Amino acid sequence: MSKQYFMPEEWAVTEDHFQPHLNRFMETIFFTGNGYIGLRGVPEEGAPAALSTPHNYLAPIYDIIEAKSSEHVRNVTHVSTNVACANWFGMAIELAGESFDLYTGKVLSYRRTLDMHTATVTRELVWEDAQGHQTALTFTRFVSMHDLHYAGLAVDIRPLNWAGTVAVATTIDATEVNEQQITGTEELPDGGLLCTRTFVTGFDTATAMRSCLMGAEAVVTTTSSEKLVTTHFSVTALQGQQLRVEKIVAVCTSRDNAEVPARERALAMVNSGFATGFAALHQSHAAAVAQIWQDGDVAISGDPNAQQGIRFCILNMHQSYAGTDPHVNMAAKGLTGPGYGGLYWWDSEIYMMPFFLFTAPEKARQLVLYRFLTLEGARNKAHFLGFEGAMFPWVTIDGEERSADWEYGLLEQHVTAGVAQAVQMYVEVSGDDEFMWKYGVELLIETSRFWASRVTYSERKGKYVINFITGPDEYSVAVDNNCYTNYMARMNMEYAIEAVRRMQIECPAEWAVLADKLQLRPEELVRWDKVATDMYIPYDEALGVLEQDDNFLDRDPIVWRDVPPEQKPTSKWNWDRLMRSQAIKQADVLLLQFVKHEMFDVASKRRNYLYYEPKTTHESSLSPCIHAIIAAEIGLEQDAFNYYLRSSRLDLDDVNGNTDEGLHTANTAGSWLCIVSGFVGMRQTRGRLSFTPHLPAKWQKLAFSMTFLGRRLNISVTAEKLSITLLSGAPMEVTVSGEPVALQPGETSDIMTVSSAGK
Ligand code: BGC
Repeated sequence: MSKQYFMPEEWAVTEDHFQPHLNRFMETIFFTGNGYIGLRGVPEEGAPAALSTPHNYLAPIYDIIEAKSSEHVRNVTHVSTNVACANWFGMAIELAGESFDLYTGKVLSYRRTLDMHTATVTRELVWEDAQGHQTALTFTRFVSMHDLHYAGLAVDIRPLNWAGTVAVATTIDATEVNEQQITGTEELPDGGLLCTRTFVTGFDTATAMRSCLMGAEAVVTTTSSEKLVTTHFSVTALQGQQLRVEKIVAVCTSRDNAEVPARERALAMVNSGFATGFAALHQSHAAAVAQIWQDGDVAISGDPNAQQGIRFCILNMHQSYAGTDPHVNMAAKGLTGPGYGGLYWWDSEIYMMPFFLFTAPEKARQLVLYRFLTLEGARNKAHFLGFEGAMFPWVTIDGEERSADWEYGLLEQHVTAGVAQAVQMYVEVSGDDEFMWKYGVELLIETSRFWASRVTYSERKGKYVINFITGPDEYSVAVDNNCYTNYMARMNMEYAIEAVRRMQIECPAEWAVLADKLQLRPEELVRWDKVATDMYIPYDEALGVLEQDDNFLDRDPIVWRDVPPEQKPTSKWNWDRLMRSQAIKQADVLLLQFVKHEMFDVASKRRNYLYYEPKTTHESSLSPCIHAIIAAEIGLEQDAFNYYLRSSRLDLDDVNGNTDEGLHTANTAGSWLCIVSGFVGMRQTRGRLSFTPHLPAKWQKLAFSMTFLGRRLNISVTAEKLSITLLSGAPMEVTVSGEPVALQPGETSDIMTVSSAGK
């Protein structure tokens, strides 16, 4: 059951007293990262092993471990996983001969804050040891958004009622690393270096640190052992004396630059970062974070709880994905925890990509480009299973299928249509035709080839069917004709035909090269057209709803809210009961009606929502946000608001009870979609924007910034009107509540609207 752990604050998340039993959860919430480095909020002095996952990840670094594969997925013998890299956050402190440790002695005051303005975490506390020595300590940390290789840590120490020895040991510690060997440690007078290499993938990492003590003359030494480098500072402090230790860290890997060894780069960087200093590094970091807010803040007036939720989500999208390397995608838990092994899923195309597309389009491009760069793995998977074209892996890091579960890894094939959807959406919203010709068309052709070889023609139905499949709802496994999958496959092929025709006309020379490369035969397009036109889309005439799959309507009916609490969650059920019931894990038909919104009218969305919503458990975090969006569109204001809160505060309130394993990043992106697609009612269709606002009654105003087809826009909604300022770019036309509105650069257009469609 979720709880409110943090008071509502617009720009901060504060833990206002020490809660030792919540340490692992707090490590996720107080995560600091920049999409290259990701450090859990582990206390600098450490925490008991039973309460902590002291991990620090590097986005490009993963390794491959043996999988327990079942008979049916015997191609998957190995899974890739993110690895816990050398820890550089350590600062062990001794005060008057006692080890500073919050789990012993007394915590007299305590306050840890994530300042979202600057993505900086501070921990201010007063600690008393067994002898009654009281000391004030303030820790500060950031992982630079300006230069992704840097992080900074500082501790301010003041003996309050005593004088004596203060010792601080700053460390690089590889005792917790996995899937890698330590290839070297080195000492510097005020720091050191530690290098590792992953066992199978052979990636090198180098972590370097330099530290200084301010406020007194210190004795400084560095020591090292096989897995640990430590710089020791020791001073005799007066009562009330203010001391400060600053630690600058630089991290590099062999995947960033194959030419100069990671060790040399890390060493050069730590030296220059140390010369720049903590304050200046922090300032440039804060400026980079300010830019993120400038480009993509969402401001809600009148509801600090809702405000805190969405800013936490937005910041964490950027903390977990940098978009600097197209070989790196965004994991289901970002870089925030061990959950899901750092693997990439369809979450990236359907949830994360749209968020970046409207706020940081260059990051969206990298996500889609990643799929192009891993086409070989998708071709391998298709080939292995006897299909044509490219069948994208259900989960992966390196492009190969890395799921050894047949129900998902083999059957959750909709991910392939999701890639085509991402190509289409990316190109329509960015106008990046160059991307389309260089990468997009090839992705569309290969994915269409897959679907055309995957379908079966049913004589009885006179239609193409897709049997033995798992759709987004993972509680309906191995079904026939999952509606989402069939529909998305159909649209995949239709769009591929359109893109090919456009390329033939607009870029004939490039087209000739591509057609030759892919050996595309004209009859293939004819087949895609036929399969798409005759694709079977399950629909129940009597209810007027899309059928989630062929047998869904025959299964045991369920109203999830009426299931007795002792029978929840469904993990208490056996598979037989689950698969025979209509319990739905996550939005499936409703997701289709959001992703392909232009294909369905509001009345159809209403019928489907009223039918499927009561059956949905939301046991996947990918679900509430989609329900919020559809609920807003069909005028169920309270449902929309409740689902939005659940989504945007899912991790802050630990709604799913597993935030200790990491943030739910598809949901994090989905929360932004709730705001923009839900409450502002923004839709994009073929490069045109439309808005139908549904502002929650509690909110006075909702404002956000976005990018669209090279233009910058500021948009705000109140109960009476929607205002759009075209900050930069060429004039454009949008639709507001069904009416066309012309926008001129530098001008604000105010359009009177009806605030709540549900009333
Ligand atoms: C969901 C999938 C999702 C995965 C990773 C699962 O629980 O059912 O749809 O891709 O989590 O987020």
